[in-house]
Amino acid sequence: MIVMKFGGTSVGTAERLRTACSLVKSRVKQKPFVVVSAHNSPTCRMTNTIIAATENALTKKPDISKVAELQRTICKELDVPVALVEPLLEEFQRLLAGINMIGELSLRSMDLAMSFGERMSSIVFNDVLCREFGVNSKRVASFDLGLRTDGNHGSAIPDKTSYPDIKRNVEALGCDVVVTTGFLGKGPDNHITTLGRGGSDFSGTIFGAALNAEEVQIWTDVDGVMTADPSVVKTARSIPELSFVEASELSWYGAQVLHPLTMQPAIEHNIPVRVLNTGKPDHPGTLIVLKTTATKGVAKSVVYKEHISLVTVTSLRMLGTHGFMAKVFEIFGKCKIDIHMIATSETSVSLTIPSGYNLEPAAAELSKIAEVLVEKEKALVCLVGQNMAGVKGTAARVCGALAKAGVNIKMISQGARELNIALLVEDDDINATVAALHSEFFE
Ligand code: ADP
Ligand code: ASP
Ligand code: MG
Repeated sequence: MIVMKFGGTSVGTAERLRTACSLVKSRVKQKPFVVVSAHNSPTCRMTNTIIAATENALTKKPDISKVAELQRTICKELDVPVALVEPLLEEFQRLLAGINMIGELSLRSMDLAMSFGERMSSIVFNDVLCREFGVNSKRVASFDLGLRTDGNHGSAIPDKTSYPDIKRNVEALGCDVVVTTGFLGKGPDNHITTLGRGGSDFSGTIFGAALNAEEVQIWTDVDGVMTADPSVVKTARSIPELSFVEASELSWYGAQVLHPLTMQPAIEHNIPVRVLNTGKPDHPGTLIVLKTTATKGVAKSVVYKEHISLVTVTSLRMLGTHGFMAKVFEIFGKCKIDIHMIATSETSVSLTIPSGYNLEPAAAELSKIAEVLVEKEKALVCLVGQNMAGVKGTAARVCGALAKAGVNIKMISQGARELNIALLVEDDDINATVAALHSEFFE
């Protein structure tokens, strides 16, 4: 069997959703297990609209009208009976009323709110697949198929002991195709958890691992993983093949096309992942495997992450003492803050932190042992590729290209595996940095 994950844009309009259904039908012999995101198009950004309505409910009269209108419109365009999604819209309305009444919005409530997007789109997808395309399929929400998580709301990770249950439950359905929700599971307390924004890709490989899939296909709106974000670099090209390690690095350093944890289950179970374009189904896209065939070119892709914070910890006490660094990391660990990149000197250590963390508690702790400087709105730009290992002059080419483009590098890091070179620049310099590196290495 194969897993076919359709991203928000692949189910964002009636036309795209029908194309996705026809792709599933054409592969029915391979027993597709279908994972869908919430609808997403320039006019229908479902998850974002749900988040806005939920946040508004804290202080204003609960209003689900935008969400309901988007959902009802796509139902009507596809001849899907609106009654199929009405119970979920009513539940969403009740949730917002509750949030409004108690004046409190927890991560748990936000996860429940966001879940309605995928729960409704999967109902719509399955209805079109059965009714219009005549496929023998059933729709079951991922948490009802048995996907349990660690219960960490907003960024849950799967509990692998649920995999055998999932396999059993899916087999018991006895149909040609199963359609499920991306992005969702349930924690130990039986409450719905999300896997983090963009988490349906991760759901794809989680189900791939649980079901022993031959392949996981991630259907999206571009020709696979590309040499740069095509919305930033018009000349970006599709990459035919990537290794698991390269794809992990790319997603970790910001390539939105794959959620950062997508590769983990694929690596653990050695399942090939293919990234494909729903709008151009005949394009070969990108195949991600354990070992790639030899390719020319030093680097594979240049990726970026915005809104990074830079924390610099300076102390003369670092000089010749043991355990200072351990203390610094312990503080970040205690505050559950992820660190991306580190550079050290004798008296200071600089660390980059992705957006979304409250750095104040960590900074207060750190300032008891050192001077702390927090700088915001930086960007991490990263050149990735296994072929960089052992090639002389790559770092010089990176620095030369940025000097020519007039970009100042605040921080630079290259691990000893030479898989990537990561640079910290000002947020405003992202486009110039990505363009300069793309032109140096890919054009
Ligand atoms: P989906 O809705 O299918 O999950 P996403 O919007 O999450 O799609 O991811 C696809 C988008 O990722 C593309 O439209 C593209 O702009 C962006 N992207 C960023 N970096 C890359 C890259 N290196 N290769 C391909 N796409 C990228
Ligand atoms: N709908 C969710 C989001 O927008 C998950 C996903 O699309 O992967 O983040
Ligand atoms: Mg996505």
